[in-house]
Amino acid sequence: MSKLQQRIQEIEKNIQAACQAAGRDRSEITVVAVTKAVGTERTKEVLEAGIVDLGENRPEGLTQKQAEIESEAVWHYIGNVQSRRVRDIVGNLGYLHSLSRASIAKELQKRATEPVNCFVQVNVSGEASKSGVTPEALEVFIEDVSIYDKVRIVGLMTMAPYTDDTETIRSVFREMKELRDRIVAQNLPHAPCTELSMGMSNDYEIAIEEGATYLRIGTALVGVESEA
Ligand SMILES: *Cc1c(COP(=O)(O)O)cnc(C)c1O
Repeated sequence: MSKLQQRIQEIEKNIQAACQAAGRDRSEITVVAVTKAVGTERTKEVLEAGIVDLGENRPEGLTQKQAEIESEAVWHYIGNVQSRRVRDIVGNLGYLHSLSRASIAKELQKRATEPVNCFVQVNVSGEASKSGVTPEALEVFIEDVSIYDKVRIVGLMTMAPYTDDTETIRSVFREMKELRDRIVAQNLPHAPCTELSMGMSNDYEIAIEEGATYLRIGTALVGVESEA
């Protein structure tokens, strides 16, 4: 078994244990393999190992891999995007995890031929270095983008602070679930908002316990390019 297959197996075991601990069904959770730090060859191995959801955070990384990989991959764009680059990423996009500005929604409306599945990125921790709408602004933001029929809000996304303090991480994820539940309760046609994209290499098990439905796992799953 390759190093990659070992890591995938290990993470799968952890996911199942976290699901069991939280009384959740494994089928509620989609693993997005974040391949931004590895090349096309490693990405193909990830696909061959059975993970079809792939995440990239740069327009170049996304389009280059899309061009080089012919398969049934579902592409997730997880990084910041500038309005002028929306056209480059929108062609074959399964999910946009980083919607946090109305200007991007407007550009999606202009460029997309079908509704785009979007997560609204929320900056729960309030760190200045992180993008995302504030929890206070979330409801108004979602209302504002309802005028764009090419923007479908499938859920919320966040990045927890980088810390060893698991209770801090947990409280961020918990607040996300509360925010999500509040949007769901509004029954908005353009924003079913049932999904929660949260949990990375360091915190995916906590995210599962707090209700994540999409995990975005990079290094722990795919490794780094310089090492097998
Ligand atoms: C890089 C990245 C990840 C994956 O990070 P790891 O710590 O390598 O798992 C997840 N989400 C976003 C938005 C990222 O930029």
